[in-house]
Amino acid sequence: MKTIGMIGGMSWESSIEYYRLVNVEVKRQLGGLHSAQCVMYSVDFEEIERYQHQGDWERATNVMIDAARRLEHGGADFLVICTNTMHKMADEVQAAINIPLLHIVDAAAQVVKSKGIGKVGLLGTRFTMEGEFYGERLKTHDLDVVIPDLADREIVHRIIYHELVLGKIMTSSRDEFQRIIRTLQQNGAEGIVLGCTEIGLLVKQEDYLLPVFDTTVVHALAAVDVALDNKRIEDFLPG
Ligand code: GLU
Repeated sequence: MKTIGMIGGMSWESSIEYYRLVNVEVKRQLGGLHSAQCVMYSVDFEEIERYQHQGDWERATNVMIDAARRLEHGGADFLVICTNTMHKMADEVQAAINIPLLHIVDAAAQVVKSKGIGKVGLLGTRFTMEGEFYGERLKTHDLDVVIPDLADREIVHRIIYHELVLGKIMTSSRDEFQRIIRTLQQNGAEGIVLGCTEIGLLVKQEDYLLPVFDTTVVHALAAVDVALDNKRIEDFLPG
């Protein structure tokens, strides 16, 4: 089994989900007492959030590179960044290490496409919904992307940073997400990418008729497939 290196802490509310999911899946596939071979480096999210909202992406990138190098030295065979937003600097992180990075967008796109979907609604932080690093990468997988309007992007962003990363699950916010997802569907979305690793704590597939793709789940399961040699990282790349 390969060792999964995980950069966590963004937020730890979703990192514990990653840790749980990789272990449950390894046990499901191998049985017995098997569990995931992994190493996690968990950052201080207060610092990360400050750099993000100050637009100090250089400092944020340095923290990610430092974490990635620690995981490489700690024996990781490959890397997952346990958040969507911090894939903004995925290329810089990859360039700084000698182990491969399993990109969250590639893992999500593969599952979306396996369902025959061509147009997805994207929900996440404003950095993710508005950033080229995310939408453009989905497009390299031949997926069309629709995002909420500015007012709704602000609502989603606020709910993530003021509630979900703090572990607050509010009924009023669940209702807001339902309304926003309905609008995305009216704008042509055939499925919804939950492009923030905490949204799955609030939005559940059973509440929707259209497919909802939780990036925490698809990324963790993809990591297990790579760790168990069911797939190679290159198998997730577009084309
Ligand atoms: N975990 C969230 C994401 O997937 C937001 C936290 C962050 O800014 O990294 O984007």
